[in-house]
Amino acid sequence: MPIDDSTSAKARAGAYLEIDLGAIQANYRALCQRLGASECAAVVKADAYGLGAARVAPALWEAGARRFFVALPDEALVLRDLLPQAKIYVLGGLFAGAEEDYLGKAIRPVLNSLGEIEAWRRLPADQRPPAALHFDSGNSRLGLPADEAERLIADPDLLAGVEINYLVSHLACADEPAHPQNKAQLQSFLAFSGSFPGLRRSLTNSSGIFLGADYHFDLARPGIALYGGNPTPGKENPMQACVRLRARILQTRDISAGTSVGYGATFTASKPTRVATVAMGYADGYSRHISNCGSAWLAGNQVSVIGRISMDLITLDVSGLPAEISMPGALVDMIGERETIDHVAERAGTIPYEVLTSLGRRYHRTYKEV
Ligand SMILES: *Cc1c(COP(=O)(O)O)cnc(C)c1O
Repeated sequence: MPIDDSTSAKARAGAYLEIDLGAIQANYRALCQRLGASECAAVVKADAYGLGAARVAPALWEAGARRFFVALPDEALVLRDLLPQAKIYVLGGLFAGAEEDYLGKAIRPVLNSLGEIEAWRRLPADQRPPAALHFDSGNSRLGLPADEAERLIADPDLLAGVEINYLVSHLACADEPAHPQNKAQLQSFLAFSGSFPGLRRSLTNSSGIFLGADYHFDLARPGIALYGGNPTPGKENPMQACVRLRARILQTRDISAGTSVGYGATFTASKPTRVATVAMGYADGYSRHISNCGSAWLAGNQVSVIGRISMDLITLDVSGLPAEISMPGALVDMIGERETIDHVAERAGTIPYEVLTSLGRRYHRTYKEV
């Protein structure tokens, strides 16, 4: 998305999204430190979790990331233009019909099945970049299922001529440290990888990094923690916030007790109330589930979302605040250090991943560099 930084573009916008590249870099470095000798990749699928791969990926490269994971070959091609030297992996695997793109752009498939291994082997060996191999240790989504894994162990020649530089698996419950599935998947991954001695291994996402060194192996694949989501839900967030979203107040009004606010009249004032209406809504990715239960910050004061979230408007209770701070044109912090992406997600009944990847296209976006 081209960014129009002109004053008039700013004046025309309803809300302002500031993405802190320095904070993303600091988060990358903090994870590297925690990982010690293990390498830290960067997961930048879905346009770097909605934050804009065009700016985020080069910032991560600058911070030292050399391996990048995306979901789709289409995303890999975009990333290749941004980072000519990066090692780029496609988690979705090898897409039939797109083989030439993998070869031509040195895109590394994370092979998910014996069928994909076979298709990869049919391509000219001298043109193939190294690939990764995904083993399903208990997530039942992608990767070699148990029967295919057994066949491969019994017949390693199925990989003849294929350079595999990582064995990969993915944890289902890493954000719940006490969940028995974590240890079960670890054991399963250890057992499978034991049949391929010498191959480097990668198991963890963001939360898995916090399960301890047993889970680190050679390469970690964090996404959400880079972007400020809490990888240790229920505990203090060790990561820095990377997103600040501010919305413009369009109008303020005083209503009397008994007056309702918004569609469906789902909120009725029980006392005289001052309502501020801001210029963003569910069309901008601020979930309608937050109706009547969200909060935001105006000049350091917490204010509540009242009434339904509309497509383009949100109504806030700004009662009791000095009139001059809630004037039209004032900016309300809808997401930021105080109203975190984890908090907004909880209000919306979802996870910070969805809050970030839903961030709308109408925001005036800026990137803060160190
Ligand atoms: C998305 C993804 C990650 C990153 O997960 P986070 O929880 O965002 O750190 C890592 N590995 C795989 C296979 C993924 O799909």
